[in-house]
Amino acid sequence: MNDLIPLVNKLQDVFNTIGSDSIDLPQIVVVGSQSSGKSSVLETIVQKDFLPRGNGVVTRRPLVLQLVNTHNGGLPPSSSSSSSTDDSLDRAEFLHLPNKLFYDFEEVRKEIEAETARVAGQNKAISRTPINLKIYSKNVLNLTLVDLPGVTKIPVGDQPTDIERQTRNLILEYITKSNSVILAVSPANVDLANSDSLKLARQVDPESKRTIGVLTKLDLMDAGTNSLDILTGRAYPLKLGFIGVVNRSQADIQSNKPMAEALKSEKEFFENHPAYRAIAHRCGTNFLAKNLNTILMNHIRDRLPDIKAKLNSLIGQTQQELSSYGDPTFTGKAHRGSMILQLLTKFASDFVAAIDGTSSEIST
Ligand code: GDP
Ligand code: MG
Repeated sequence: MNDLIPLVNKLQDVFNTIGSDSIDLPQIVVVGSQSSGKSSVLETIVQKDFLPRGNGVVTRRPLVLQLVNTHNGGLPPSSSSSSSTDDSLDRAEFLHLPNKLFYDFEEVRKEIEAETARVAGQNKAISRTPINLKIYSKNVLNLTLVDLPGVTKIPVGDQPTDIERQTRNLILEYITKSNSVILAVSPANVDLANSDSLKLARQVDPESKRTIGVLTKLDLMDAGTNSLDILTGRAYPLKLGFIGVVNRSQADIQSNKPMAEALKSEKEFFENHPAYRAIAHRCGTNFLAKNLNTILMNHIRDRLPDIKAKLNSLIGQTQQELSSYGDPTFTGKAHRGSMILQLLTKFASDFVAAIDGTSSEIST
């Protein structure tokens, strides 16, 4: 079943390349107000520092992040020079820079910044065009995550006056799709009644069936208060539940606190906290990552019949279109189009075959 996620990723690439969104593929979309901790959550899941950060609007384009686990084979086409040592095998690849592998995640951050500026400008404007990034690592689970600009209320710098509407629309565009699982991030030190992420999620998922709550900044709550009510589902019911995390603080980031150490302190925080001790096993970033992987797989499984039907009709369409190109030796634009269609058809057929295999596996 785990094989399905890489397949879904491949299909996603094909659709991104040909600029088609005729199939809504399952993915996890991270939503929240600015500075709620979205980037921090993503970085701890990936266990790497690679996202641009700083004050104000940093995430200005959607980032579609595909995590590929390389533990059991599943190696990507590696570059010709493999001089890297074992623990530096983790690598990243952008869709807009095919065949260029990044081993230095500081460079990944710079490339995201440059690519953001290239399309959305040097200022604070946002763009709807996504950046697609793949990270291969032994330390990640197969997941597809989308990071989005945070909700803000007041235009800063040269942002348009309708920046709030623009970001909301962009977020809604992603989470409206019934194929997306919404990772609704809320900071624990702000009353949940004011949560932007839950408000947005509720708009498109009124029964809270595909929304998972993430409570950040549990370490920053007022003394004498805790979020046990939320974490145990008594305060705000979500079918997929709430998971509490403690990310690195700004001081931790400035002092370059390593990821592994941050995860360790997070674990200690929950295990030693009088209110959370009893539920420590279902708190924290590791639990969140495992949970997301399961949720994504269940979600894909639920959508299989639908994806399959769509793919089959797409295969029919492309074949018709293919035959209308006539002579396959024809060169030029039409030829290129037909090659893409042939590739797409092959992908789609492989995918349907894999789905058939998996469905029979599931139903037994
Ligand atoms: P984003 O705008 O939603 O992507 O938020 P960031 O991930 O950039 O976080 C904003 C700020 O909050 C950063 O300075 C983080 O260090 C800090 N932060 C995020 N999560 C936590 C947390 O759980 N605890 C503490 N103490 N600080 C956090
Ligand atoms: Mg961010």
